[in-house]
Amino acid sequence: MNAEILENTNIRGDYYRIRFRAPLIAAEARPGHFVHVRIDERRDHILRRPFSIMDAQGDAVTLLYKVVGKGTASLSALTTGKCCDLMGPLGRPFTPQPEARALIVAGGYGSAATWQLTRSMPGGVVLLGARSADDLLLAQEYAAAGFEVKLATNDGSAGTRGFVTELIPETVARNEGKPFFVYGCGPKPMLFALAALMRRSGLRGELSLDEIMCCGVGSCFGCVVKVNASELPEKFRYARSCVEGPVFPAEEIYLGEETK
Ligand SMILES: Cc1cc2nc3c(=O)[nH]c(=O)nc-3n(C[C@H](O)[C@H](O)[C@H](O)COP(=O)(O)OP(=O)(O)OC[C@H]3O[C@@H](n4cnc5c(N)ncnc54)[C@H](O)[C@@H]3O)c2cc1C
Repeated sequence: MNAEILENTNIRGDYYRIRFRAPLIAAEARPGHFVHVRIDERRDHILRRPFSIMDAQGDAVTLLYKVVGKGTASLSALTTGKCCDLMGPLGRPFTPQPEARALIVAGGYGSAATWQLTRSMPGGVVLLGARSADDLLLAQEYAAAGFEVKLATNDGSAGTRGFVTELIPETVARNEGKPFFVYGCGPKPMLFALAALMRRSGLRGELSLDEIMCCGVGSCFGCVVKVNASELPEKFRYARSCVEGPVFPAEEIYLGEETK
């Protein structure tokens, strides 16, 4: 559907927030869903670009994006009143677990994919990780939504120096009451490390994999990821992350090669 841009704001550095009028998508959007955006009709942007739906309020959907290449650079140049064609909401979303305590683990713009969970969850813990302080997104917003926020940066410019996954053992050890259920999104190495840690420590949860994708609707097999299939000799099968994901139960993610 053709969606009018209501706002397209630079938050800081390469990061932007864009809001579209898209009532049909907003009405259906759940945490972890994504939209596939046709940025313009030019030949070099023939493929749509996928972005998590950060928020859906009223008739508007909000995305938070980082300029990394040609498509996102063109998106950042679009002004209020222009339109993009949006397909969505797409993919398998998170399944909020009200009987558990939320433990959100997000790297970089991954914190956009998990943000909608704050609309239905009565608080919990959010661990945000990034290369440096400038890449930490939505920390104040999560805190204002009633979540306990802990930060980790690779260069130590905010929070603990190191990887966000290093915050997990102490967070879990101090937890009292309901067990945690993890909702994760971020760069692939972070998610594989998180899945491995969850397996070792018996933590349950779901992780959203941002695999590079083309069609977004399961036809092209361009976005496959390996998932466990113990019945097969090779112990894995390929799953299309656009329709079987992007959110996968953590225990389904195949770690055979990544952990070697
Ligand atoms: C389900 C899903 C949700 C996403 N949500 C967000 C989001 O909320 N915010 C956001 O900023 N980005 C998100 N992305 C990534 C986003 O789609 C890419 O950054 C974007 O398509 C790059 O387009 P481009 O034309 O600017 O870059 P290109 O010129 O196509 O590529 C530039 C660089 O970005 C890398 N890149 C391209 N696609 C991806 C990808 N999917 N993941 C990681 N690196 C990529 C390329 O390898 C290359 O190094 C998401 C991706 C998926 C699959």
